[in-house]
Amino acid sequence: MKITHVFFDLDRTLWDFDLNSYNTLLDIFHDFSLKDKGIKDPVFFIEQYIKINESLWGLYRDDLITKEDLRSRRFYQTLQEYSIQDLQLAKDIGDAYVKNSPLQTVLFPHTIEILTYLKKKYSLSIITNGFEEVQHIKLKASAIDHFFDHVVTSEAVDVKKPNPIIFQYALDKAKVSAKSSIMIGDDLPVDILGAKSMGMSHVFFNPKKNSHSQKIDFEISCLSDLKNIL
Ligand SMILES: [Mg+2]
Repeated sequence: MKITHVFFDLDRTLWDFDLNSYNTLLDIFHDFSLKDKGIKDPVFFIEQYIKINESLWGLYRDDLITKEDLRSRRFYQTLQEYSIQDLQLAKDIGDAYVKNSPLQTVLFPHTIEILTYLKKKYSLSIITNGFEEVQHIKLKASAIDHFFDHVVTSEAVDVKKPNPIIFQYALDKAKVSAKSSIMIGDDLPVDILGAKSMGMSHVFFNPKKNSHSQKIDFEISCLSDLKNIL
């Protein structure tokens, strides 16, 4: 079957989540004068935040906490590591993070080039486990929103990848069958095994070349490699 539709994950596939988040946290460290509050090392502060956020995000992904819990707790717990018990400060930092991080614009190398190339041959869409308003701001700020016919977020569909419901929703919206579609993403269990279970072709974007033992259709470490596949 000929591929007609390409579905991309957004965070850590096109939009460089880690670098954008790092830059936002560094701004926050300075804007909130965290050094004066006893937090000496911004890099260590960011590492602490990342660890706490990852464990809370895991709980959110498994529907054990809400979006609001996630957003309020992650900075409160990070500040607690420094014996700072300040709910208001945690809330203000949390608000600044949610407001500013989606405005960051760092994309993975070759993103614009490969989207321009693919757009001439395929219909392009996004399937993302993210918040509705946030993901749209990221796409617009990094000036790639115009490439995509559909943007499907887990918040809008109310289930997250790898749940088949969100893939089926995206396929229905694009009016295409799984067999004519290909999914590109960086998260093996979420994007790739999710797409595989739907019968969609799939490309694992693995820039750090992490080892694994899954049987998958294609694997790339650079987005420009997509030209060899599509
Ligand atoms: Mg991702």
